[in-house]
Amino acid sequence: VKSIAVLTSGGDSQGMNAAVRAVVRSALFHGLDVYGVQRGYQGLINDDLRQMDLRSVGDIIQRGGTILQTARCKEFMTAEGQQRGAEVLRSRGIDGLVVIGGDGSYQGANKLSKLGIKTMGLPGTIDNDIPFTDITIGFDTAVSIVVDAINKIRDTMSSHERSSIVEVMGRHCGDIALHAGLASGAETILVPEVPFELSEVAERMKTNFAKGKRHSIIVVAEGAGKGEEVARQITADCGIEPRVTVLGHIQRGGTPTAIDRILASRLGDFAVRQLMAGDSGKACGVVRGELTTTDIDTVVNSKKPFDMNMYELAIRLSQ
Ligand code: ATP
Repeated sequence: VKSIAVLTSGGDSQGMNAAVRAVVRSALFHGLDVYGVQRGYQGLINDDLRQMDLRSVGDIIQRGGTILQTARCKEFMTAEGQQRGAEVLRSRGIDGLVVIGGDGSYQGANKLSKLGIKTMGLPGTIDNDIPFTDITIGFDTAVSIVVDAINKIRDTMSSHERSSIVEVMGRHCGDIALHAGLASGAETILVPEVPFELSEVAERMKTNFAKGKRHSIIVVAEGAGKGEEVARQITADCGIEPRVTVLGHIQRGGTPTAIDRILASRLGDFAVRQLMAGDSGKACGVVRGELTTTDIDTVVNSKKPFDMNMYELAIRLSQ
């Protein structure tokens, strides 16, 4: 491997820049040429690449978003689009590609790998929905943002409203809700992985208020339902009128935490070293602190297991 490229794809996440920086600096350290692809697979198809040097990634480790920008690209879902992407890389003499993104981006990387391009996937998504890694780049920051928001909501709640619903991101994964809910002492955490009855949630709220609980926070993962609908049903069931906050895109913005920066730095450097060692078609991750690789094909065909122990802990502590 003499020349590699890096792209960010799908939804952006905090720490993507730190990962791009790590890929670029590690590649240069090892004497490789390195190219940045603008706007994910769209930029790849359009041959929108630029050669990166040490300074191209200066002053970005602390920034949210991605300097390479990202895109959702329909054309790359087709066999022609994927062929075109592989041709662009070959025509430039690029023999390795690092893809930073979520599960959809991994599907694309898997296709390129099958077309003979040496690819490495890095888990860049706030959702933490990628299997074979304990944590994804951006997740820790997103959880911190949610916890910070819930702290603020608690402050005004103890003076006014007694009950709040906070709807958080995560797509089909409940991890942001679970971790943020546990860390902020939420009374109820609704996630897509665990079935629930809202009538039981309403009953529990009533009982807890009767026992002297002063406030109640319900964290709803977007994959489990809409905050407004949960509120409507709780009001219908028990008369309590919770206030709803939908946190939305603030969860994807802002400066990454040290944990995300370190994770991104380790993974970016690791991906480059794996490519240099001749590895390909792999997703990089961290499992129990150790850097690991797994076939992308396996990763895109697996589902991340839900941490029931943590969920049950959150319930035990929320009475
Ligand atoms: P996030 O989960 O954080 O939003 P993501 O990577 O899952 O990120 P997607 O929009 O699902 O985001 O995927 C990003 C891009 O990857 C798509 O726009 C498309 O170009 C490419 N992609 C997704 N699925 C496939 C597929 N099956 N085959 C080829 N390319 C794909």
